Amino acid sequence: MLKGKAAAITGSTSGIGLGMAEALAAQGCDILINGLGDEAEIERIRSGLEDRFGVRVRYSPADMSRPDEVRAMVAEAEAAFGRLDVLINNAGIQHTEPIEAFPPERWDAVIAINLSSAFHSIAAALPGMRRRGWGRIINTASAHGLVASVEKAAYVAAKHGIVGLTKVVALETAGTGITCNAICPGWVRTPLVERQIERIAAERELTIDAAARELLGAKQPSGAFVTPAQIGAMAVFLCGDAAEQITGAALPIDGGWTAQ
Ligand code: NAD
Repeated sequence: MLKGKAAAITGSTSGIGLGMAEALAAQGCDILINGLGDEAEIERIRSGLEDRFGVRVRYSPADMSRPDEVRAMVAEAEAAFGRLDVLINNAGIQHTEPIEAFPPERWDAVIAINLSSAFHSIAAALPGMRRRGWGRIINTASAHGLVASVEKAAYVAAKHGIVGLTKVVALETAGTGITCNAICPGWVRTPLVERQIERIAAERELTIDAAARELLGAKQPSGAFVTPAQIGAMAVFLCGDAAEQITGAALPIDGGWTAQ
């Protein structure tokens, strides 16, 4: 379905981003992956995607907290593939603490990586998409883009912000062949969440399994984690013709979290 198209996916060396990279590559899309981590491990992921799916896969180490590197990453994708049709803003970090104790530098980092990077990448990617008359922009927001939780001031602010940014971009691109949507996952068992599970386990003297059940039980009525593959499938759907008229939406995939 996406043969001949190219995507850039930020934060795709792990978790949800990697799930989306696999799903798009399986549809024949060339991919620029991005993220931090061990160089050898990232090369294994990059070449693994090429081998499994027969697409071209490039890696950019751009740091999403640095606007110049974000914009350069978009240019690199366009240079490598001759086009950038799909942009997925997914890189994200978490910090949990009550607001009075929340370190200002962690606030700045969360806002820069989870929100401002999307502003820069979208601004850089749109001119090419407009020229080609086709584009798909997908922002990984969160259930926390729709509702709040305690101790997540920066994360909830950034995720609500990205839902707002999604709507503005949708309006500014309406009727051009470009859509912009946000995916709002509930709990997905990735390294970002594993750290929160470990904290619950330590604080309440629980096993990791019991802490994971506790985390799910507090928010996610289905009692099960969303998987990166399920989110990847949603991203593929948003790239397809059937989703041509879906734009400016914040789509939950959260086991009922935000239905409450
Ligand atoms: P993860 O920790 O597995 O992946 C995060 C990715 O972002 C990694 O590839 C990491 O290298 C990259 N990254 C972090 N800082 C970066 C930086 N400065 N520059 C470039 N890349 C950077 O976490 P995940 O759970 O897969 O999170 C992906 C996205 O999904 C995030 O935006 C997160 O907020 C969102 N999300 C996660 C959940 C969940 O339950 N896991 C739920 C809702 C939304």
